[in-house]
Amino acid sequence: MVVRDAHTLWQAVLGELQLSVPKPSYDTWLLGTSGVSFAGGRLVVRAPNAFVSEMLESRMYSVVHRAVEKVAEHGVELRFQAGAEGASLDNGASPAQAPMSQRRNGSVNGRTPPRRAAPVNPKYTFDSFIVGKSNELAHAAAAAVSEWPGARYNPLFIYSGVGLGKTHLIHAIAGSLTAKGADPIYATTEDFTNQYVQSIREGKTETFRERYRSADALLLDDIQFIIGKDQTQEGFFHTFNALHLAGRQMVISSDRPAAALTLLEDRVSSRLAGGLVVDIQLPDYETRLAILRAKTERCKVQFPGDVLEFLAERTRSNIRELEGCLNRLVAYAELADTPISLDMVKSAAADILMPGRPSRVSDTAVLGAVSEYFEIDQEIILGRRRDKQTAKARQVAMYLLREEAGMTVTAIGRFLGGKDHSTVLHACQSIASKMEVDTILRQDVFNIRESLNSP
Ligand code: ADP
Ligand code: MG
Repeated sequence: MVVRDAHTLWQAVLGELQLSVPKPSYDTWLLGTSGVSFAGGRLVVRAPNAFVSEMLESRMYSVVHRAVEKVAEHGVELRFQAGAEGASLDNGASPAQAPMSQRRNGSVNGRTPPRRAAPVNPKYTFDSFIVGKSNELAHAAAAAVSEWPGARYNPLFIYSGVGLGKTHLIHAIAGSLTAKGADPIYATTEDFTNQYVQSIREGKTETFRERYRSADALLLDDIQFIIGKDQTQEGFFHTFNALHLAGRQMVISSDRPAAALTLLEDRVSSRLAGGLVVDIQLPDYETRLAILRAKTERCKVQFPGDVLEFLAERTRSNIRELEGCLNRLVAYAELADTPISLDMVKSAAADILMPGRPSRVSDTAVLGAVSEYFEIDQEIILGRRRDKQTAKARQVAMYLLREEAGMTVTAIGRFLGGKDHSTVLHACQSIASKMEVDTILRQDVFNIRESLNSP
């Protein structure tokens, strides 16, 4: 279908989505949306508020994007925008600028536009990074590396769970090096892989090597996605060696320690472990509060101190969720047209802290839903079978037991037939990070969540 205007394209996409998305979610998330602009291969879609736009971005992106490309019959970059001005916080995580959507830039007219590196988010700077006990070492190392690239800590390897600031720090290094006149390459491992594979296909590996080897520094985000991609590991290994020999700085991030990247070839993981390895832990209360203060400072809406303390107390997970929570609170206050107060936050706490999940679901409901969805008997999920599909179902169950039933990893291990708590923790982290790039997995988890949350 040849469509030129946003309205027609989006109407056709909505028609498509009506067939594939369950009606309650269609009505909640898609009904009030409209196509705003369609130019240069980019479609901008407006949602009625920041809350909806964030949900579309975080929970439904892949389904919607697939429908758009199906209707348009070629690659389209998709962006969501909140309708009400200022409904989202100015913190770099606003849906229109979320790093996730930058990484998912679709190709235009089926051809990937050449680019030197993935775009760096200008809001991810050292200035906007709040330092606390949990991240001070990583911060200090990142600052040192941008001060003396290639000199002291090379490679710098940063690891942490999701949403704790790895990408923020890497972008800050990129920005700081660029400001000094250096020419670093920032790439997600996904970009790196795609470019490498494309260069092989087009017989242009030499150009690929030249491009990477001529960089002043290489900043590679989320190296865990290289696992299982032998060809890319080969490309990475050679690029790494060339840059290392030339004394160029490398910074690499991962959601697990280098030693735990067991599926990497030994020579690759030992290279990674050979430099400075730093981790970022979950932020403590003081850091959470400082981050909340900083994020709300430039916001038009007033946040009383006791509200921030309440939120810092209640949101113990990662910083991305802390931001999501603030965004929802702003949207909520705007919809209800009331100023933000502790009473209001307390009465809306379930919605704000756990969107779309007013009450927790039971452990057996999660197990039942996972078993039904993957068509695998509950006993098998509880057992020890290790084939791919069973392992996936089991990991998804662990993830959802933590997210939806709010269970601790120890309790999950016990419930699932005596699994070790570290196995459960690893499964939860692995599912969370895989969902960022694996659209099928994201859709699976989305569908199971829907079935759990629909009455
Ligand atoms: P990761 O790459 O580890 O998954 P990100 O770097 O994407 O995490 O961080 C998630 C969000 O939290 C980003 O919006 C980032 O700006 C914010 N953030 C993380 N750590 C801090 C911090 N110490 N101070 C301020 N914002 C932070
Ligand atoms: Mg990241």
